[in-house]
Amino acid sequence: MRVGGLMCVTVRFESGTRIEPWDPTERTITVPAGLSPLLTVTAVRAVLAELCISQPPFEALCFCGETIETLPRVPEQRSTQVVSNAP
Ligand SMILES: [Zn+2]
Repeated sequence: MRVGGLMCVTVRFESGTRIEPWDPTERTITVPAGLSPLLTVTAVRAVLAELCISQPPFEALCFCGETIETLPRVPEQRSTQVVSNAP
């Protein structure tokens, strides 16, 4: 979903030692794979708070006001999805 030409924040899970928590280009928050759901939400909220997006107590909200999905998706071959910049 896009709001005002801005992509929504998405969460990505990655294993590795060098993780960039926030990618402003892709508007992606990266958390270590294997975090519990609670810690994942906590980590995502921390990044969002750093971005000055006020957060409710128990969930992570995108700047557009939508709840951000913080559960790892079951792999279902969606990685080829292309986000078009065309109007
Ligand atoms: Zn959004």
